[in-house]
Amino acid sequence: MASATSGAAPPPAAPLDAADGALCEALLGSDETARRRALAKAITLLESTRADHRARADALLGALLPHAGRSLRLGVSGSPGVGKSTFIEALGLYLVGRGHRVAVLAVDPSSSVGGGSILGDKTRMVRLAAHPHAFIRPSPSAGNLGGVAEKTREAMLACEAAGHDIVVVETVGVGQSETAVAGMTDLFLLLQLPNAGDELQAIKKGVMELADLIVVNKADLDAAAATRAAAQIAGALRVLHWQAQPPGAWQPQVLQASALEASGLDALWEAVSRFRTLREASGALQARRRAQDEAWMWALVEAGLRQRLRAHPAVRAALPEIGAQVRAGTLAASVAARRLLELSK
Ligand code: GDP
Repeated sequence: MASATSGAAPPPAAPLDAADGALCEALLGSDETARRRALAKAITLLESTRADHRARADALLGALLPHAGRSLRLGVSGSPGVGKSTFIEALGLYLVGRGHRVAVLAVDPSSSVGGGSILGDKTRMVRLAAHPHAFIRPSPSAGNLGGVAEKTREAMLACEAAGHDIVVVETVGVGQSETAVAGMTDLFLLLQLPNAGDELQAIKKGVMELADLIVVNKADLDAAAATRAAAQIAGALRVLHWQAQPPGAWQPQVLQASALEASGLDALWEAVSRFRTLREASGALQARRRAQDEAWMWALVEAGLRQRLRAHPAVRAALPEIGAQVRAGTLAASVAARRLLELSK
């Protein structure tokens, strides 16, 4: 593959240096204030794109990993304006009120385009952000979806190591961000509006298929409309999941809530708990995580290989000509691909 001079290979993970060791200790420790500060610092390190930071971040991740994984990971999506941040704040306050420690992260690949993050914005969840058992972090603005999602995944591990037993990952339907979030969470929750008019309720089919729970929010505005919408969506779900499910499998559910009035949360949390119990008992929860981790590893390996390939001197030299030939239709794409791979050996 690439020569040692291509510079694409990350340096091997070093042991934690003294400062990062102290950071790790604070993050895992019992001092609430120190822990919160250490968590924020750790995530900043994980999000850094500097090569020397990456080596430190890898070492930190290695130290945190044995303490991670003991949370329920909840993905939340829905169109802008559906009430995601109001809902997450209401749910977060409900959960911290019951003794949970909640972390809210976001995957928003558009945040780097406009400069400001449209998600995870602290000012939108002021009450939750002020709670000592809640931690809110806006979306990293790392550019492409893969980069943003990778950093959010790592932040999630840090939050878990810091003792957050519920991690909420928020996203909007930008690019494939719902798929990315469903691919890093245990349960994927989709918020919908009560005006389930057929053309209005244009839920992307693929997103509907990802949903374990669909919540019709803003039920306070029009209870009858919310009930109608819930029935319509339940009907659509039945069509989608018409095949016989194995015994004990989870059937996606539709619920109603008002994030503004913080109502419907008991029923929602009861459904989430049933989902968790069922999936833990059948081993499906653990299997989903293992599959997610493996898929993540391959996604990163493939991205890294592509980057290395493009950086390879022989490939770089030949690419303009080979690319032009493929575009002109004088070279078969498959032959071109094999040639590029040969050149990178
Ligand atoms: P997001 O863009 O999906 O994060 O949506 P926001 O949480 O910012 O909410 C958009 C608007 O809907 C805000 O004005 C909220 O106050 C309002 N909203 C959110 N949830 C509810 C609800 O349950 N009922 C009503 N009536 N309004 C809501």
